[in-house]
Amino acid sequence: MTIHQNLIGGQWTGTETRPDINPSNTNDVVGEFSSATRQDAEQAIAAAKAAFPAWSRSGIMERHTLLRKTAQEIRARSDEIGYLLSREEGKTLAEGVGETLRAAQIFDFFAGEALRLNGEAVPSARPGIGVEVTREPVGVVGIITPWNFPVAIPAWKIAPALCYGNTVVFKPAELVPGCAWTLVDILHRAGLPEGVLNLVMGEGAVVGQAMVDSPDIDAITFTGSVGTGKRIAAACVERMCKVQLEMGGKNPLVILDDANLDTAVDVALNGSFFSTGQRCTASSRLIVTEGIHDRFVTALTERLRKVIVDDALKPDTQIGPVVDQNQLDQDVDYISIGKNEGANLAFGGDLLNRSTPGFYLQPALFTECRNDMRICQEEIFGPVASVIRVRDADEALAMANDIPFGLSAGVCTESLKMATHFKRNLEAGMVMVNLPTAGVDFHVPFGGRKASSYGPREQGSYASEFYTTVKTAYTV
Ligand code: NAD
Repeated sequence: MTIHQNLIGGQWTGTETRPDINPSNTNDVVGEFSSATRQDAEQAIAAAKAAFPAWSRSGIMERHTLLRKTAQEIRARSDEIGYLLSREEGKTLAEGVGETLRAAQIFDFFAGEALRLNGEAVPSARPGIGVEVTREPVGVVGIITPWNFPVAIPAWKIAPALCYGNTVVFKPAELVPGCAWTLVDILHRAGLPEGVLNLVMGEGAVVGQAMVDSPDIDAITFTGSVGTGKRIAAACVERMCKVQLEMGGKNPLVILDDANLDTAVDVALNGSFFSTGQRCTASSRLIVTEGIHDRFVTALTERLRKVIVDDALKPDTQIGPVVDQNQLDQDVDYISIGKNEGANLAFGGDLLNRSTPGFYLQPALFTECRNDMRICQEEIFGPVASVIRVRDADEALAMANDIPFGLSAGVCTESLKMATHFKRNLEAGMVMVNLPTAGVDFHVPFGGRKASSYGPREQGSYASEFYTTVKTAYTV
C-alpha cells in the first residue's frame, strides 16, 4: 500500500505510519499515512519560517492564481474527494461532496480577496503629515484542525492564511489524514514555493504541542474541543502568540407555538442528526413551547423511524456511522447518563448491526429533559438530542441562553416580531430563523461567543482580522 507522507520544506517525507480506517467498515483501510515526530514538526516550522520573507512579498497575482487553480482542481475532483471524505469520516456521500464543493468556493473566495487587499490613506492630525493604515501578514501560522469537517475547515484556514501572505504548518486530526493529504497535494502541485505550506500529520500531544510550544510560530488557529482549546490558549498567551479558537457548541433550537410544524421537524431533524450529529453547530437542545410540544415530538419521532442509518457510501444512507469507537463510547455513555438523570428516551439510542462492521448508532431523542441535566449542558457530539418543554417564548429565550456555549442558535416561528426578538436576544455568534442551526455560507463570518469561540471570527473578509496585522505609517 502506498504511504502518504508529510510535506516538509517542499519534500514528501516520513517513515512511521498509521492506518486510516473507514468507520462504516472497519475492515477497510483507507490508506497508510505518516505520523510525524516532534523533530518533524520542528523542521516544518523552520521551513515555514524560512519561506516567509519571500512569500509575504509575493505578488497578489501569484497568490490569486494559485488559490484559483486549487479551487478548480477541488471542484473538478469533488466526486472523488467527497467519496474519500465519506469513506474516511463517515458522513454521507452527498454531505461529503457538498463539503468538498464548499472548499472549492472558499478557495475561490480567497483568490478574489487576494485582489481586494487594501488599506487607508488618511490625513494626520498634524498638518503636512500623511498617515497610511495597511495590513501585513502575521508570519508563520500554525493550523490545527478537528476530524468532523476534514476538507472544509482546513480550507477555511489555509486559504486565508496563504491569501494574506502567511506561511503555514498544518496539523490535521489523526482520524482524517486522507482529506488533509489530498488538499495539500493539490496546493503543492498548484505551484506553492517550497516551505510555504507544510503538512505534519500525527498526534496532537506530539505534533500539535510542538507547534504550540514553538517561538517560531506567530499565530495559531485551532478548531476542536474546549479542553484542548483552553490549553492551547494558555500556552499561546504565555509566549504572546496570536491565537484563534473555534470550539464546542450546545446549540438551542427554539420551536414556538406558531411554527410551521413541517418546517420545524425538517429543521430539527437536519440540525440535530444529520452528519451523525457530529457538527459543532448541531441543535442538540430542542426547546419547545407547550402548545406545539406534543405534535412536534410525535412528528419528529415518526420521521426518525424512517431515517436510514447505514454505510456512508451507500446512496440511500441519510445518517452514516459515528466516527470511531471512542466517540461511540462517549455517545452511549451520555445516553445512559440521560436515562439516569430521569430524561425519557423517546426514540433510538441502540447500537445497530449493518452488513459491515462499523460504528452504527440509532439516533436518540430524549424528551422531558431539564436544562440543568448534563445531557442538556455538555456537548455530546453525536446523534443525540434533548427536548425541553417550556411555557412560552420568554421562558424559551431564557432557557436557550442558559448555557456556557454560544456558537449557533435557531428559532422556528411564523411571526416576524418573534423572529426579530430572537435574532436580537439569542446569545450566539450565528442565529438561524426557520433554518437548521448547522449549515452556513462560505463568504460571511463564522464563530461564536462564550466557551464556543475565542479571538477574531473566521471566514469571509473578516478572516483578515486574524491572518493580518495592522501597520500605521506616518510620512512627512
Ligand atoms: P480535539 O480537541 O480532540 O482535537 C482537535 C485537534 O487538536 C486535533 O488535530 C488534535 O490532534 C489536536 N490536539 C490535541 N491535543 C493537542 C495538544 N496538546 N496541542 C495541540 N493540538 C492538540 O477535537 P476533535 O475531537 O478533533 O473535534 C471535535 C471538537 O471540535 C468538538 O468539540 C466540536 O464542537 C469542535 N468543533 C468546533 C467547530 C467550530 O468551528 N466551533 C467546528 C468543528 C468542530
